[in-house]
Amino acid sequence: MMISEKMNSKLNEQITNEFNAHQTYLAMACMFESMGLPLLAGHFRKQTEEEREHALKILDYVLDQGGKVELQALPAPRAEYPTVLAAIEAAVEHEKKVTQQIHDLCALAESEKDYGTRTFLNWFCEEQVEEVASMEQLAAAARMCGQHLLQLEAYLIHHAKAEG
Ligand code: MG
Repeated sequence: MMISEKMNSKLNEQITNEFNAHQTYLAMACMFESMGLPLLAGHFRKQTEEEREHALKILDYVLDQGGKVELQALPAPRAEYPTVLAAIEAAVEHEKKVTQQIHDLCALAESEKDYGTRTFLNWFCEEQVEEVASMEQLAAAARMCGQHLLQLEAYLIHHAKAEG
């Protein structure tokens, strides 16, 4: 095994954290769909796919390094939020928490002189900058729309066009 026991176990925890984000966003997508906001639901569905990919990327890395993947139980995600904005703000906080988790892994890799893992984590550091920024942008849009949630749906149409 080319990574330490401790790193192996911390990477397993991060796999769980990413699947936890997957579940959290899927629950949010269901809430939005039930409210009649299909584009916002679709946006979060797309996020869930990304979180699943993050989990699998780490899982593959652990296997490549000869480590042992141990999948863990996930906490039940919150199913309801008082408002759409509250849900999106919770997603922003969630992304900030994941950023901290990635940074903690970077610090561990540096302290262990595990430059393979440290380099592997660069992709996640960059990804988190993107994730926090785009979720904050969505929260800002939701704040401007206030009660007019169909405007948020309209915003997402333009957002999707701009991204191609
Ligand atoms: Mg992620």
